[in-house]
Amino acid sequence: MAISMTTKKNSTDSTIRSIFINIVRTFRLGWQCNRPFMLLFFGLSIVGALAPIGISYMAKLVVDRLIAVQTTTQVITTTFLALFASQYLIGLLEDFLNSYQYEYVERLFRFRMQDFLSQQFSAKISDLDTAHLENPETYNVILKARGGYSNRIPLFIEYAMLIGSQIGTYVASFILLAPYGIWVPLVMTAVVVPRFVLKNRQSSISWSIYNQNIPESKELAYVSDLLDDPKTIQEVRIFQARHALLKRMVKLQEHILNEIRKPLKKYMASLYIPIVIESAGVALLAYIKLGPTVAGLISIGTFLFYTQLLGRMLASSNRVFTQINHLYDHNLHINSFFDVLNLPKLVKEKDPGHVFDEIAPPLIEFQNVSFTYVDGPVALKNVSFKLNPGEHLAIVGPNGAGKSTLIKLLLRFYDPTKGSILVNDYDLRELRLSNWYRFVGTLFQDFVKFQLTIKDNIILGKADVVDEQKIREAAKKSGAAEFIEKLPRKYAQRLGKRFDDSVELSQGQWQKLALARAFYEEAPVLILDEPTSAIDAEAEAEIFENLDRTYQNKTLIFISHRFSTVRNADKIIVLRNGQISEQGTHEALMKQKGIYARMFLKQAKGYIE
Ligand code: ADP
Repeated sequence: MAISMTTKKNSTDSTIRSIFINIVRTFRLGWQCNRPFMLLFFGLSIVGALAPIGISYMAKLVVDRLIAVQTTTQVITTTFLALFASQYLIGLLEDFLNSYQYEYVERLFRFRMQDFLSQQFSAKISDLDTAHLENPETYNVILKARGGYSNRIPLFIEYAMLIGSQIGTYVASFILLAPYGIWVPLVMTAVVVPRFVLKNRQSSISWSIYNQNIPESKELAYVSDLLDDPKTIQEVRIFQARHALLKRMVKLQEHILNEIRKPLKKYMASLYIPIVIESAGVALLAYIKLGPTVAGLISIGTFLFYTQLLGRMLASSNRVFTQINHLYDHNLHINSFFDVLNLPKLVKEKDPGHVFDEIAPPLIEFQNVSFTYVDGPVALKNVSFKLNPGEHLAIVGPNGAGKSTLIKLLLRFYDPTKGSILVNDYDLRELRLSNWYRFVGTLFQDFVKFQLTIKDNIILGKADVVDEQKIREAAKKSGAAEFIEKLPRKYAQRLGKRFDDSVELSQGQWQKLALARAFYEEAPVLILDEPTSAIDAEAEAEIFENLDRTYQNKTLIFISHRFSTVRNADKIIVLRNGQISEQGTHEALMKQKGIYARMFLKQAKGYIE
């Protein structure tokens, strides 16, 4: 599935467009999350935009009034005092507004938003089609989105609000300056243009470093992975590659730093230009009004208000540019978040799908099933077979033959490209999946090692029915009971590495535990994909004896490379290159003297010799 890779766009235009799109999308999310907060935010932004101007205007009134009642000798002192007081007042008010907005409202908003976002994200990911999860490109986007959406999205909203507020100040100052001559705000706008151009260039500079994927930065990431991944570090140490890799790391870091420095230096060199232009602009505009003020044509208060507006206009435009840079920084990751959220549903469930009343071993039928992975090979070709209720089916064949794909289709992770799979004569596509999943229990090769207690691991599939006696029986049948009894807390022992009081199991022990779960669940259809690969032959034989007994009247479908277990199945399917090349019982297939017989004898010979 080719998802829309907005990450590939790197022209400034499309970035600005995507920033706008993301402002709309993030605001919509904020609105869904908590309307009162968004409204409060919005209100505070408007107050934040206009309050300083209001206070400047009050200061003007105070100064003018004071000057009017004072004698000339006291004018200067009083004016300065009033000015000082008004500046102080502005500072205090702004501080208060800022603390309320940033320390309280935004923090609270951020927490709520983070909870809301992780709910949305987890709900989406946990419902994603297998096709998406197995697509490396999509998988990378998921990793990228996971890397920071919960912080970045609330920040993005805050920066966008701040920009809105600063633009508000700018526009209000523009309007209030217009009566002094429309050219005044126009000149002020003109003097910030150089900064805008340079900031824009800077954002593309920092982007190109961040995003240009120079080979060195990819290599650096790989080298540091090698050095700090617990899985690789042992081997790195044994081969004594540590020093060489550390040296390589430093060299790469230096190289990348130099690459980053070059454009930054160029940018720094041109940084003073806007400052000079802006200061000259403000000084000139202030000077022009100084004459009329001295001549008494403009009041001192008005003059002060005028200069403060000039300052506000400059400050707000500068802040806008700074905040826009932050938006640039977060934009890519936010794109990934929305890319994930917008991934389409590929396997569509029928609504309302068919529901079976009785959850019992069903009749399963594959009718001319073919399947091709998107951008991948033909994995199954015209596969047809019938599995009666309670039969045991073994699927054998070399790697890549299509065995796991067949299971994935039966679980409706994918739909067949051609043909159909029937359960009790209903097409899988007709069924309500939650009902179908009540029929099946699974154990895959890369099963999840739940870092829970032994007991919780066993009852996981049937947590509503806790039967201590059955838990122990299941553990015994799967061969897990032996090691469980030796654990410090036995069935209450927490597993894994994440928690302090936990114990890690070997791969074989984990498999036995997962099998205990299957024994406990006793689903009418149990699907096992090489369930005993890490378990020794003797223990495996015992497990399968138990499985045969427990599943005597239930359906068992398993993939295995060990013919000693395969031979007992009611039906054996030999898959090669996605096609069924042979099928039948062990005896029938041995008589055929085909591939199965050859493979069986080869393995048996290996055991005997
Ligand atoms: P087996 O289980 O017999 O080893 P699989 O069913 O896993 O074989 O794979 C069958 C074929 O499909 C192989 O060629 C494999 O490379 C390919 N394949 C498996 N999974 C995917 C996937 N998610 N995307 C593309 N090709 C895949």
